[in-house]
Amino acid sequence: DIVTRFAPSPTGFLHIGGARTALFNWLFAKHHGGKMLLRIEDTDRARSTQEAVDALMDGLSWLGLDWDGEPISQFSRVARHEEVVDQMLENGTAYRCYSTPEEVDAMREKARAEGRPPRYDGTWRDKDASEAPEGIDPVIRLKAPQDGETVVDDMVQGRVVIPNKDLDDFVLLRSDGTPTYMLAVVVDDHDMGITHIIRGVDHLTNAARQTLIFDANGWDVPKMAHIPLIHGPDGAKLSKRHGATGAEAYRALGYLPQAMRNYLARLGWSHGDEEIMSLEDMVKWFGMDAVGQSAARFDFKKLENLNGHYMRATDDAELLEHWKVYLAHAGDGAAVLEWMSDAANAQTALTALPGLKERAKTLVELTDSASYLWRQRPLENDEKAIKILTDDARAVLGDLNGVLSGVADWQAEPLEAAVKAYAEDKDVKLGKVAQPLRAALTGRGTSPGIYDVLIALGRDESLARIADQAA
Ligand code: GLU
Repeated sequence: DIVTRFAPSPTGFLHIGGARTALFNWLFAKHHGGKMLLRIEDTDRARSTQEAVDALMDGLSWLGLDWDGEPISQFSRVARHEEVVDQMLENGTAYRCYSTPEEVDAMREKARAEGRPPRYDGTWRDKDASEAPEGIDPVIRLKAPQDGETVVDDMVQGRVVIPNKDLDDFVLLRSDGTPTYMLAVVVDDHDMGITHIIRGVDHLTNAARQTLIFDANGWDVPKMAHIPLIHGPDGAKLSKRHGATGAEAYRALGYLPQAMRNYLARLGWSHGDEEIMSLEDMVKWFGMDAVGQSAARFDFKKLENLNGHYMRATDDAELLEHWKVYLAHAGDGAAVLEWMSDAANAQTALTALPGLKERAKTLVELTDSASYLWRQRPLENDEKAIKILTDDARAVLGDLNGVLSGVADWQAEPLEAAVKAYAEDKDVKLGKVAQPLRAALTGRGTSPGIYDVLIALGRDESLARIADQAA
């Protein structure tokens, strides 16, 4: 059975690259009916606060990327890491090294001067324990093969061959007894039964060293897939200056998780020309053979358009739930959320949604164009509305108040018929009537469709707003 893992280090948020790695692990596991495990690489104690761990899980949950079983803390497994090193010492695949940091620096310097990669020179590789100096806590190093080559048969990068002479006897356990990252990853991947390691290509050089540790223990090496990095639109590695880099930032920017998932899936993976894919389709189609080697470019415009698509395609009741999640995380969302907590208001929002979502690419835009719903009378008019509300326009509103009061059935068709009949009767263009109406109802020069607005506000509120501005 296939078992993948997402193994983030808690940095305080779920990086968008990490989110994509998690998604690929998740899709791969689901495609094969396997499992995805979550391992928190929390050995850096200063950074690994509960908040940082929670932020990771929150980002994953928002994206709907669930993991199997309990999250595993790498730090909690230190005793097991040490145990494996003890076994390696016993079977001769690791050794104690008493070289001081200064001596190791000197070895590296020497190698550099001779034009070789800076490496530990293996001084303690074959020495006897009796030669150990007193008062020095040794590090424990892998006794790496010195000839031959190590092959990483990568599902994305192809066959990567590294001559063993380029891989030195690297450290497994530091002199203070703490395991290195290189060791911990291998022991954990083995113990967790990981069959496929899917991660960023920046870990490819670690893959050869980790392969040596698997081999030294006689363990099967998991299959590996090193996926290309994400770049910004300018081709440089994605960073803060390109815009938001945390998954939760996209939530606050008004993106839907389904749009993010679809967009992230397409960063480095493709299925023919498909751009819009349901989760079911992605699970069905996902495979490493269609993951390319070149870096994927983050295209904010494309994400925005995709999000607009998902807003329109999402059922209103579900969209309302996503809207609330957004409001709970948006800086100024609390007041709107409070308004929505009233059942009648929530119903009003739901009624207005079809008209709202046609025009909005994000929940930020949607919230802005919905704001007429909760703004209080008398409305504050924006500049465009002020321009529209001339004396003539206010006179039209006076007439309209009477006309619309007479509409018995407060529905789009009779309302539209009444407004049109009035315009025809007065022999003015429809715009001359609709624009003042819009300004009076919303306080703005642009808004969702005017009949949508009338219906969402309802008869009493609509007529009161018209009366507020009428002359
Ligand atoms: N913890 C590493 C990271 O955050 C990933 C390690 C791995 O996937 O092997 O980049």
